[in-house]
Amino acid sequence: MGNAPGSLESLRRTNRLRVLQTVQSRGAASRADIVRLTGLSRTTVSSLVADLLAEDLLVERTDQQPLPVSPNGGRPATLLTLNPGSGGYLGVHFGHDSVRVAVADLSCTVLAEEQRDVAVDEHVRDSFGYAHRAALRLLEQLDLPASRMVGLGVAVSAPVRHGSGTLASPSPLKGWDDVDVAGEWHRRLHLPVHVGNDANLGAVAEWMFGAGRGVDDFVYVMLSDGVGSGIILKGQVHEGATGTAGELGHVVVAPDGYVCRCGNRGCLETVAGGRALALALSQARGPDTTLDDVLRLTAAGDVGALRAVEDAGRAVGHALSGLCTMLDPRLIVVGGRTGTAGEPLLEGIRATLARELSPPLNRSVRVVPGALGTRAEVLGAIALAHRETPAHVLPGATPAGALPGAVPGAVREHAR
Ligand SMILES: [Zn+2]
Repeated sequence: MGNAPGSLESLRRTNRLRVLQTVQSRGAASRADIVRLTGLSRTTVSSLVADLLAEDLLVERTDQQPLPVSPNGGRPATLLTLNPGSGGYLGVHFGHDSVRVAVADLSCTVLAEEQRDVAVDEHVRDSFGYAHRAALRLLEQLDLPASRMVGLGVAVSAPVRHGSGTLASPSPLKGWDDVDVAGEWHRRLHLPVHVGNDANLGAVAEWMFGAGRGVDDFVYVMLSDGVGSGIILKGQVHEGATGTAGELGHVVVAPDGYVCRCGNRGCLETVAGGRALALALSQARGPDTTLDDVLRLTAAGDVGALRAVEDAGRAVGHALSGLCTMLDPRLIVVGGRTGTAGEPLLEGIRATLARELSPPLNRSVRVVPGALGTRAEVLGAIALAHRETPAHVLPGATPAGALPGAVPGAVREHAR
């Protein structure tokens, strides 16, 4: 498909898209950035930007607050961004036992969100129904028509086969076998849908917005009901050959322990997952003890809860030591619901890494809490939708009528 030489209008439309694409991919860009990155002349950029400002598709930012989607600093004062109010993204995170839904504007700023405990693994369809109703409810609260949304990111607690949108098979989530996540959500919301593994997306969010900003080699550990990790190497998520890289929860740490839902025995998740932590305290606190009870007791300084959380941290540290030896990350970011336990957990991880790693690794790897808490995964889903939305589906980027749902091949999925 070549250009249409001689068609000034066509050329201008192409250049306009390049300007929007440049601003979108960087989150914010000055006019000089656009000139440098597109190779267009200063005059052309100036004229196109003036049009886009007049049409409210771009806005000028004069503050120095860096946008989360462009971690590189050093920007001049006047930055252009997409007009955040001209559209937005939806994000959904399906954990094992909870669902979180968020609506964000085009700058990835969350406008509204909702979370509910749902037994996702056992009731996939119910959890989809809840998330769908929550998304519509949030849009209604915000008085935003669904047609303004340009993409949906979905984070799932299972490995996602790269580029296929399907879960890697066999999936450790039995109820999710044969569920076409992207297709199902496209049918529900008529939006381009992008699906990724939740720990990988949590890593992306901490890298873009949180504790991993400015660090291009780190491991995000998601400790919740399930246990997973996302590995960022040279600023890219490392997915592995089958999309299962970073499945830390299924590293064997107790060969004689409980059988895991994956079928192996003694996986980290059977020792440090939410159910394992609740079980560890159930003798002392009764059979109905939950992970939330454990976290509440830990915060209150209960000796038994502190012991359980520290022991879980040691098991996580043991599983991480091999990973650190092989990959030499600069940073370990600990997130997820159990991650909110803070220092007792982190101390368990640090003590084990200090003992099991050889110098200089044992001194170079820092272990820090995540900055985004239990929201990291849904923020990562929004970041995924943002990154995978091409400029030509943004509102106003094409002549009226070309809406996202009408873009051929718009249902795409990535765990990147
Ligand atoms: Zn397992």
